[in-house]
Amino acid sequence: MCGIVGYLGKDDVISVIISGLKRLEYRGYDSCGFSVYDKKGQDLTLKTVGRVAALEKMAESLDFEAVCGIGHSRWATHGLVTEKNAHPHFDCKKEIFLVHNGIIENYKEIKKKLLERGHKFVSDTDTEVLVHLIEEFFKGNLEEAVHRALKYIKGAYAIAVISKKDPGKIVVARKSSPLVFSVEKNRAIVASDPTPILPFSDKVVFLEDDELAVLTPEGFKVFDFEKKQKIREPQVLDWTIEESEKGGFSHFMLKEIFEEPEAVENSIRGRIVLDEGIAKLGGLEMVSDKLSKIDRLILVACGTASYACMVGEYMIEENAEIPVEVDVASEFRYRNPILDKKTAFLAVSQSGETADTLAALREAKRKGLLSLGVVNMVGSSITRETEAGVYNHIGPEIAVAATKSFISQLSILALLTVFLGRQRNMSLSKGQEILGALKKLPDLMRETLKENDEKMKNLAEKYSKYRNFIFLGRKYNYPVALEGALKLKEIAFYIHAEGFPTGEIKHGPIALADENLPFFFIAPKDSVYDKVVSNMEEVRARKAPIIAITTKGNSELEKIADDVIYVPQTIEMLMPILNTIPLHLFAYYMGNILGCDVDKPRNLAKSVTVE
Ligand code: GLU
Repeated sequence: MCGIVGYLGKDDVISVIISGLKRLEYRGYDSCGFSVYDKKGQDLTLKTVGRVAALEKMAESLDFEAVCGIGHSRWATHGLVTEKNAHPHFDCKKEIFLVHNGIIENYKEIKKKLLERGHKFVSDTDTEVLVHLIEEFFKGNLEEAVHRALKYIKGAYAIAVISKKDPGKIVVARKSSPLVFSVEKNRAIVASDPTPILPFSDKVVFLEDDELAVLTPEGFKVFDFEKKQKIREPQVLDWTIEESEKGGFSHFMLKEIFEEPEAVENSIRGRIVLDEGIAKLGGLEMVSDKLSKIDRLILVACGTASYACMVGEYMIEENAEIPVEVDVASEFRYRNPILDKKTAFLAVSQSGETADTLAALREAKRKGLLSLGVVNMVGSSITRETEAGVYNHIGPEIAVAATKSFISQLSILALLTVFLGRQRNMSLSKGQEILGALKKLPDLMRETLKENDEKMKNLAEKYSKYRNFIFLGRKYNYPVALEGALKLKEIAFYIHAEGFPTGEIKHGPIALADENLPFFFIAPKDSVYDKVVSNMEEVRARKAPIIAITTKGNSELEKIADDVIYVPQTIEMLMPILNTIPLHLFAYYMGNILGCDVDKPRNLAKSVTVE
């Protein structure tokens, strides 16, 4: 999920790789490394936990004339953040070297077979199986071996592979993880995004899914996975380095909102067994028995993650029939919650370092509760201190405001609902219904982004003169209203926004309703739709501007609301995922219009490691 750089050419190979990795540092990473070989076929691998600067320091005193090499910055998904788990990985004979971004889903099965065939593994990563598999098939031609090995691989990957036994080439391939290369003026360079390439060339080829390419200093060949050669012309990229880091988007936040569909794909990948209607959550396997016996679940988090937990509460109670309680971590740790041994505690935190959540977790453990986590950052404190858990697998989130991590947390809580539900009374068909809808979600999310991006921008423009907003949602969409309000006040810091359950308006917020206060209603066609419409009428009667998010095909709100945003239909418990997208876009565009530093909103930090 992080960075790859590969280089073959007349410049100083190690320096090109190191400066390339530095240019990829903005993506976030936990460890890094490179492998190179020289003319005589000698190889050198250096790895370190931490910064590229440390790798650079290690390389300073080297006397090694490399002719070809690959480098990597890792965002661990399988195996802790250690030197031996850092990439590149190599085969038993140390002749083939590989870097990988992504996840190999079926690595356990492959590893078992390879171990039986005598392969020796040095790391705990999923990645290492691939280089041993390539070794199995290697008969002198690297691309042939890579091609054959990839046939066995399930998952997501961008890879770059080199071999001393087939020198003078870099073999690259991709499925779901980005990879781009350039071959020009006797040098070939490949990377996860164009930033390391731009100093050399602006003519690049973006590899597409299910493509493999062979790069030499003289040229490149692209093949599909059936080995059919494809004609790919380089495109001229007129991006600055800064634009390139953001993938052409103006801010990381916008890039990450557009990555929300991919975040769901990454979070559910390999975790759905549709035939049996079950969610396969490897990280919970060892506590599966204990989980089948719990009769209460406490979800604890801070900020946006706590809203994900609130949606989770509705999902789990309605579908898995376990009583759920959601608590904000800073409250949980100081009140005296009544806990018993049949309660499980689940901490949700992107960084896995959130101080309050960590303290709440320790409190729960002190009381003897089964402790679980939903965390993005492998090896973080929460993952080390919980008994079991589920990783988000969405790569780093750079913008301070959480966007794709919130969406990913929702998709994991949906998987957890099925996991727990199927241990209890949930029917096969219900399990299949939820999982089937979850699988279809990324495409619906893409549709939502495509159809609403411009619209939300215009809407932000239209409403930019207002300084207060109310967000309302009911049932599954009440936490979405909270998220919409929080995001707006975080990003567009001149604005005050509050979220409420729609049904609560008569108990307070309606007193504020007049033409100066816009009301954002999240009103999909769900089980509480009619009630939400009645509340909308009440607000209308007080002349407040109304923006409504509803389900495609439902045009009746046009009569009540000033502006209507449409999102596609999905099952009720997953609607929050679609409804959040326009709200994230709205907050982003509003912040942008008001001239706020969208990626680094004032007074906020990405990982809140203090109380
Ligand atoms: N799954 C691999 C690992 O954990 C690759 C992670 C990455 O994309 O950086 O090592």
